[in-house]
This record gives sequence, C-alpha cells and structure tokens, in this order.
Amino acid sequence: MVDYLFFYDMIVMAREVGNILYDLVLKNGLVVDPGNRILSELRVGVDGGRIVRVTAEPIKGRRELDCGGLAVAPGFVDIHAHEDKLTADGDIEPVITQRLLRQGVTTFIGGQCGIGPEDEDIYRQAYDQTGQPVNCALLTAHGSLRELAGAEDKYAPVSDGQLGIMERALRARLAAGSYGLSFGIRYIPGMDQRELLALTRVVRLYGGIVAAHIRDDCAAAPAAAAEFLEAGRQTGARLQISHIGSMAGFGQMGRVLALIDDAAAEGVDVMVDCYPYNAFCTYIGETTYDGDFLANYGNDITKIEITDGEYRGRIPSLEVFQRIRREHPEYLTVAHVMLPGEIDMALLHPRVLLGSDGILVNGAGHPRAAGAFPRFIRQYVTERRLLSLYQAIEKMSWLAANRLGLPKGRLSPGWDADLVVFDPARIRDNATYSEPGLLSAGFKYIILGGKIAVEDDVTIDGRLGRALLRQRY
Ligand SMILES: [Zn+2]
Repeated sequence: MVDYLFFYDMIVMAREVGNILYDLVLKNGLVVDPGNRILSELRVGVDGGRIVRVTAEPIKGRRELDCGGLAVAPGFVDIHAHEDKLTADGDIEPVITQRLLRQGVTTFIGGQCGIGPEDEDIYRQAYDQTGQPVNCALLTAHGSLRELAGAEDKYAPVSDGQLGIMERALRARLAAGSYGLSFGIRYIPGMDQRELLALTRVVRLYGGIVAAHIRDDCAAAPAAAAEFLEAGRQTGARLQISHIGSMAGFGQMGRVLALIDDAAAEGVDVMVDCYPYNAFCTYIGETTYDGDFLANYGNDITKIEITDGEYRGRIPSLEVFQRIRREHPEYLTVAHVMLPGEIDMALLHPRVLLGSDGILVNGAGHPRAAGAFPRFIRQYVTERRLLSLYQAIEKMSWLAANRLGLPKGRLSPGWDADLVVFDPARIRDNATYSEPGLLSAGFKYIILGGKIAVEDDVTIDGRLGRALLRQRY
C-alpha cells in the first residue's frame, strides 16, 4: 500500500500545481466515513478509480456530482453473502449480485457456510471475464475441501489422509488469493474438533478469517458458539460467527453474546454477523430439519413455509413437510421463528456486522437477498432511531472491509472509490416474503471504482465488479 499512497500523493501534488481537473468530484454531500472518523460536509475527489482527496477546499472535476442534502459514504461491504453459481456453460448469472448492487453493496464476501466454488480460480476467471455487478472476495468453502478429499459422508469424521489433502489444498487456495475459510459445521455434523483445529491453524498461518455457520441453534447454540470460540482460543485465528440471528435468536442471544464478549476479553479475535429479519431460510433437505426440529422452533409447523414447487407460499402439515423433504430436498423454506428482540440485541452489539446471507432459487427464497442493507437503515436508523447513520454505516462498510484487509470501506487517499450517495429517509427495501427478489431503491448514485454503476435507481453499468485477490502484506 505504501507504493499506492506515494503514487497518489504525487498525483495530488501534480493536480495542485497544474490546477488540473479530477476525474470526478462529489460536492455538497455529507461525508459519512466512520473508518476515518469523519462526519462533515466535504468534497470527494476521485482519480483513476481511487479516492484522492476528501477536503473542504473547492476542488474541481471533469464531472461533478451535486450531492446536496445527501449522505456520501463508502460502498457497503457485505461480510456474508452467497455467490451466484457457475452455470453449465461456465457463466455467472447475477441473480444475487445485481440485488446486492441495488442495495448499495459494492463488495461481498462469498464462499460462506462451507459452500462455495470447487475451483476458485475458474470461478474468479468467469467472474472477471464479463464483469459482475459488485466485487467479490471468496472464502474457501470447507465443503469443497471435503469433496476434494473424497469425504462424502457428512455424518463421519475425515481420515488422517483426507485431512492432509484438505490442509494442502487450503494452503494452496489461501496462497492464490482466498480471504480465508468458511465452515458449515451445521451441515457437516461429522466434523470433529481435530478437523476444525487443523484447518483453522492453516488460516492462522496464511492469514484471512475463519467464518462458521456453527454446529447447532436454539438451546444448543451456546455450546456450538463455545466450540468455535475454542478454536480461536487454541489457534489465534480471526473468527467470524455467521448469521447469529438464525442460530441464537430464539432466547439464547444474551448468553451467546456474553460468551463472545468473554472470549474477546481473553484475546480471541472474533466478530459476528446478522441479517435484520425474524425468519431464517434454508433448504428443506438440510440437517436443520433432522429429528424433532419442531420442538426447537416453537412447535408450530404453520410458521414454516415452503417457497418452491406446488407448495409455494402455502403452510404444509407436518406429514406433507416430511414428504416434500424426501421428494424435493432442494426446495427452500422460510421459517418465521426468531424473536424480534433477539435480532435487535444482536444488531446493536458492537461486534455484530450486517451480512445479507441471501439465497434465491427460481425466484423463491428470502427477501434478505434483495433488502437487508436498506432495511437495516430504514428500521434501525430512520424509523426506530436505535443507531445513528454513522454507526450503521460502520457496521455496513468499514468494519467488514477492515476485517478482510480490503482497501475499501473508507474514504482514504489511495483507497478504492466505491461510494454510495443517498438520502437515508428515501432508502427502502421492497422485497417481501411473497416477492423476495424485488430490488431495493432510493440511491442517487452507487459508484464502483470511480464509475457510476447506478443512478436514480437505474443500473447504468452492471459489469464493474471484479473478483478480488487477497494480498499478503
Ligand atoms: Zn449459513
């Protein structure tokens, strides 16, 4: 980064001496930049795709955007999203990512919950070939390592030989640009402490974060969180606990957050993410619905809807639910079972960031894929005033970018010019449980790399996003 900063210092000097115009200047806006502790009306100068100046001086641009009455903030960084899959012919159809862009997200961290591309290089190449709506940083998916090692039984531990293959593959992927590792312990119950520690240790050595969809939810959530925190304690790796609302939002949130605070006080480097909804979403075939699952979720099958096939939008009986589970394990369900107060408790906690965690299949799924970020602003900042805009933006950009070591998420000279410009009172999430794919609205500009991607809720250029590679400093 030193070279970049030197280079941009030189540009700044040249601009001042020669009085040349910047590529782009955003003027009259309220700059909300928690990463630099700035909340003030300033001009933002952009050149060569990067931030060059943030100043009260009247700098000029070849193009100037009047942002009067609007907030100017770093583009949102989604710490937990599921990337769009490669199609059979190796393309990527931007179902999730176009919806992330229209929420003001300019970068997301994919490969989550242990689920991600088998070959990250091929995925990144496909991503870059045409360009996608937002930037993508991938974690290595634990499930893909298991598959590579031929460990097919999700209920069984891996052999020493298989674990060796997985460790080597993980090292290679981290060296090639992966931002860390994600576990879906919930989905691979056969994973033991030995496998968890061995792979977490590799990330500790190579850098990056270790994210986990922890082993269990509801009454078992505290023990599941403790298991993952113990891996941080023993290895020193940086941890990210995924979508805590759907793990502990049933009355266990206070206990789980206390465990996290205690671990952090002991030196465990842990952060958490959450989406601002009271319903979770998962495939009907997943282990979530093994055994006597209803006892965990309030003993009320009417709270669980199937979002695909002939039962779309309908409430099944338990018998029908079990039959569909056998016949169509690929259908998505939405379970309206989390307690609103618990979601608030999570999102207001200083270690909890915003992550959308969206999945949409055949237009079915959960509205968080298209609405999580605007909904967070609408509900927590403008309507209920539980957070200031500054605090919300910090959870939506800087804290996540900083966690991943991305040169994003704040408006510093040399940092990428990914920006959002909006009136907080006009931001709205349109996606609902019956129409989960509806785009969010209310942004004046969404800018990636100094170029305008969205203006007045119209996508001008949906191909500005690139696959990012982790740099080792
Ligand atoms: Zn998950």
